[in-house]
Amino acid sequence: MSAALRFDDRVAVITGGGRGLGREYALLLADRGAKVVVNDVGGTLTGDGADAGPASAVVGEITEAGGQAVACTESVATAEGGQAIIEAALREFGRIDILIHNAGNVRRAPLAQMSYEDFDAVLDVHLRGAFHVVRPAFAAMTEAGYGRIVLTSSIGGLYGNHDVANYGVAKAGIIGLSNVAALEGAASNVVSNVIVPAAVTRMAEGLDTSAYPPMGAELVAPTVGWLAHETCSVTGEIMVALAGRVARAYIGETRGVYRQAWTIEDVAENLAEIRDTADPVIFPVVPDGHADHIRYSFGMAAQAVQR
Ligand code: NAD
Repeated sequence: MSAALRFDDRVAVITGGGRGLGREYALLLADRGAKVVVNDVGGTLTGDGADAGPASAVVGEITEAGGQAVACTESVATAEGGQAIIEAALREFGRIDILIHNAGNVRRAPLAQMSYEDFDAVLDVHLRGAFHVVRPAFAAMTEAGYGRIVLTSSIGGLYGNHDVANYGVAKAGIIGLSNVAALEGAASNVVSNVIVPAAVTRMAEGLDTSAYPPMGAELVAPTVGWLAHETCSVTGEIMVALAGRVARAYIGETRGVYRQAWTIEDVAENLAEIRDTADPVIFPVVPDGHADHIRYSFGMAAQAVQR
């Protein structure tokens, strides 16, 4: 058996760490030696209200087991809150090595009826909330020359879902933020990845989960733990963990079709080849997926000119 991967002397901030998945991440990292800031406002599923209970209960569990943790009940939904959460780590423990942005709320409505209030309330926690904590954490991490960032997307961010335009937008946007953090952090040993988790938590309220296989948060936490560990060897990637399955999700492209000129009819006639997913192309975000994508397309044009 390989040696246990530990987090001694590492400081982790976990947003939404008072319940569900975040609680599991906090307990796992603390058990492996990390000092943890358990951030949670303790509100309802829709993100209303506040309760210091969940964050302090998790801190209690950690300290009773001999670990180190502090509670922070600031909201990720504002710039000041995000700043205060990261400052709590710097003030209490002197550094920040790991940021897991996991806080989340849910507000459901069909697309045409979704209010701007519900759209904003969900973006504020998941997506702007990510920016509010990543921004100050990233500055401290790049200065220290070390950082592990894990942001939380969702199946709804990859594939959408009914009645959650707000959530789908926020969870897709998270991937864009992680990619930029991965690129800008690469030179400073700051890696950033996305977890696509699923577990039966209070977010499953109202769903019939009786036919589900075992689907606890403890089946997700080890993947997040690895992404948060010093030995994490990937950046700008997306990992999936649900019901015991761990996988990688990625953006892929078909090889595509090159022509010197196109008409609408040409697109229609070439559709099968344009959409042919056999032999796909994947451009890793780091070191330079952006330029690789452009180079690949230019390469097809250059080859056609040579012929
Ligand atoms: P949960 O409701 O059990 O826990 C989320 C926690 O975030 C709560 O304790 C809540 O108080 C806290 N929170 C909400 N708004 C906050 C704010 N503004 N500032 C600080 N804390 C705040 O939910 P969960 O199922 O553990 O979800 C955790 C994350 O995983 C979320 O981002 C969620 O979207 C994502 N996710 C969960 C599932 C799933 O199957 N449970 C699936 C996909 C994605």
